[in-house]
Amino acid sequence: MSTEQSIALEKIALGKTDLGKTDLGNIVLGAIADDFTGATDLANNLVRGGMRCLQVIGVPQETIDLQEVDAVVVALKSRSCPVDEAITDSLAALEWLRSQGARQLFFKYCSTFDSTDKGNIGPVADALLDRLGASQTVMVPAFPINGRTVYQGHLFVGDRLLNDSGMQHHPLNPMQDADLVRVLSRQTAHPVGLLGHSVIAKGASAAFDHLSALAEQGTRHVICDTLDEQDLDILAEATVLIPLVTGGSGLGQALPAQYRAQGWLESITEPGRLQPASGSTLVLSGSCSKATLAQVADFLVRHPEGGFALDPLSLAESDQQWEQALAFARQQLTAQTPVLIYASADPEKVSAAQQVLGAAHAGALVEEALSQLAITLVNEGVGKLLVAGGETSGAVVSALGISTLRIGEQIDPGVPWTQAPLAGREAPLSLALKSGNFGSVDFFTRAFEVLA
Ligand code: ADP
Repeated sequence: MSTEQSIALEKIALGKTDLGKTDLGNIVLGAIADDFTGATDLANNLVRGGMRCLQVIGVPQETIDLQEVDAVVVALKSRSCPVDEAITDSLAALEWLRSQGARQLFFKYCSTFDSTDKGNIGPVADALLDRLGASQTVMVPAFPINGRTVYQGHLFVGDRLLNDSGMQHHPLNPMQDADLVRVLSRQTAHPVGLLGHSVIAKGASAAFDHLSALAEQGTRHVICDTLDEQDLDILAEATVLIPLVTGGSGLGQALPAQYRAQGWLESITEPGRLQPASGSTLVLSGSCSKATLAQVADFLVRHPEGGFALDPLSLAESDQQWEQALAFARQQLTAQTPVLIYASADPEKVSAAQQVLGAAHAGALVEEALSQLAITLVNEGVGKLLVAGGETSGAVVSALGISTLRIGEQIDPGVPWTQAPLAGREAPLSLALKSGNFGSVDFFTRAFEVLA
């Protein structure tokens, strides 16, 4: 980096960055993720980039052992909550990560920039910058390998603009504008700029100079074009020394190489190494997404006697079906044959149940039933647990009282094996948490082969 670039960096960081200090702890990256499966997705990419990574659920209230950890991802539920709550929770996470010595901070959101005009991406980024005393951050939502790219500040999903990708109908965060400079400008009072592809194509130094020039003009947020992995590498190199970066999980895979180049991170041979898995295996599914329905069907073809279907209408009537599911699972586990308990159902069945019970109540009944099965069966010796469904995973993890997940090997893009210590258990629980549309069709079988 040239002297001029060092001076420019000081301005962006307002001289308050901890970057480059040598007396910090071993935590290189501290990330704040706005939802649970998004946190796992980022953590997975950090491991693939060569960092040993721990995911914590919410801001830890007790001391956590961070030896042999290079990156920590705090999973929040701040994507769709009221903006004040999102800011408070994100700042608490920031303070905790800084107290652990994190050199660089990463605010992780969805690669489809899920947010509304009222927030939460802009207000949270502003609050984090204010608290860090920094003057600029970058916004890099792209995840090219999953078809999310940005050109001239416009976000594409595959060959469709964001507002024509299906995301315009999202129930919580409908995305009706693909121009991210415009989208973000509605969420912050500060100037929003663009780091366009023509500059990125010239390399990291040119990209950094462009960011500095924008900072000079008071541009606080910079949307970054990204067409491919190479662009992510250039962006990672250009931003490795700024206090706060923001974006999707794609940037997470490119940053570790830059940390190594800075001498902050050793070369780690098996960043995703977990303790040997033990105990019996169980699959619980509360996801009704298309990919999950195909995975359930695939499992039932392989193991026609291995599945038990839960129905929220029956669950609402009495405990009888839940008791039957438990008895079925126990019998399968004793016989050491695969077992899947699922509420997953096609859209007609789901909407029939929702019409009688209401969507929230139907969902809550399923989540409660699966969570109670998880508690009972883990207690009885299940040691390898696969849960399908983002909300369902959140419910099961919180019912089990899990607060940290060590991130292991990837099963499929976005879904790694993880391990969690559990009170009263010697060996940790191996967990795979799969949100709706992730995973190949044979995921429920292959996941356990990856672990073996
Ligand atoms: P995904 O990641 O596929 O979106 P989630 O677990 O996030 O899956 O959401 C699925 C929701 O649907 C959960 O709240 C779950 O309890 C609920 N659900 C599952 N099965 C049924 C069903 N048969 N009828 C109604 N709701 C269901």
